[in-house]
Amino acid sequence: MITAFVNGPVFVGDGRFFDKGTVIVEGERIVRVAEGNASIPVDAHRIDLCDRMLLPGFIDCHVHLCLDGSANPEAAVSRYNLPMLTLQASEFARNTLMAGVTTVRDMGGIEFVDITIRDAVRNGLIPGPRILASGRLVCMTGGHGWQIGGREADGPHEVRKAVREQIRAGCDVVKLMATGGVLTPGSEPGSPQMTEEELRAGVEEAHKAGRITAAHAQGTQGIKNAIRAGIDSIEHGIFLDEEAIALLAERNVALIPTLSAPINILRGGVESGVPEEAVEKTAQVKKSHFKSIVMAKEAEITIAMGTDAGTPLNRHGENLNEIKHMTEIGFSPEQALRAATQTAAKILLLEEELGVIEEGKLADLVAVRGDPLAEIDVLTDPDNIQLVMQAGHLVKEEIQ
Ligand SMILES: [Zn+2]
Repeated sequence: MITAFVNGPVFVGDGRFFDKGTVIVEGERIVRVAEGNASIPVDAHRIDLCDRMLLPGFIDCHVHLCLDGSANPEAAVSRYNLPMLTLQASEFARNTLMAGVTTVRDMGGIEFVDITIRDAVRNGLIPGPRILASGRLVCMTGGHGWQIGGREADGPHEVRKAVREQIRAGCDVVKLMATGGVLTPGSEPGSPQMTEEELRAGVEEAHKAGRITAAHAQGTQGIKNAIRAGIDSIEHGIFLDEEAIALLAERNVALIPTLSAPINILRGGVESGVPEEAVEKTAQVKKSHFKSIVMAKEAEITIAMGTDAGTPLNRHGENLNEIKHMTEIGFSPEQALRAATQTAAKILLLEEELGVIEEGKLADLVAVRGDPLAEIDVLTDPDNIQLVMQAGHLVKEEIQ
């Protein structure tokens, strides 16, 4: 099966942009990328892009398929049994893919539902993005995330064991909780949680098994603990100071901002049913959060797109709003789009296969009606995502 995208704009993802380009897909891979017109095999399925822009499939580095994006996902989790959580996660995976997100990293599942969904997508049982799954997040006893399926572990020895359990279950990535957070009652976003020693033990265990690591890290001390422990990415990064930024730069650690999380909590507010404590904590930290991300951007820290989808009112399938939010704090549309494609692929160690429209890479492609470089808002309307291709398979096609 050969598909040829012709006659429309192509956002290559590596800094290049073609006003008119030709992209040919054979089987699961991109076999030809050319500016302007190129010869097309006679038997190719021809798709005229016209005013739709072709981009690499989007990559979201931080989602929670087990959380439902309701006003109070934590309460919802406790109401559902495992089969219901699994069915829901399956629907959320589908919504995510239809929004143009062809790859996600799940940052904390419940009872390995994330791993099950990953395998079901991989086996072609259900539609969904390619998933890198973390299994259960690892936190200290009573630490952030313990009530949404977290594996509590105290001391380096137990943390090693907890990480080994995730690897045994088949995780792709290990998530460690370095600080408190907004959503766990009684846990302060700024407070350090797992110690540097515990984090180091977790990172070592993960790296030994070839797994990448990510730390939920909001407060300054916890962020530094995680970086010194060898973590690969800092999630949220609310309270960065100059030393933290210097450490991120020196150790080449990536930052995943998840701006959608606070924005949605404050947009809904207490009236919408978001727990009051979460709204209050978010209101207190939002300014610092945005300031930290801007500082990191100015220091040229590697920043990749992640939404925290599944947290209050942060719904699966609305992932691309994050790209718009990034532009609201100073990213150019091109920078934000690359954070959600090329850079995200690098962070997830998928850059050989994904993130750029390039010959030889897997054909994960999205056609968007409108021009996101001129008007980023077009991404926030799912109807504008008119075509989604995943490894050469057309999973959504609304182009007539
Ligand atoms: Zn999260």
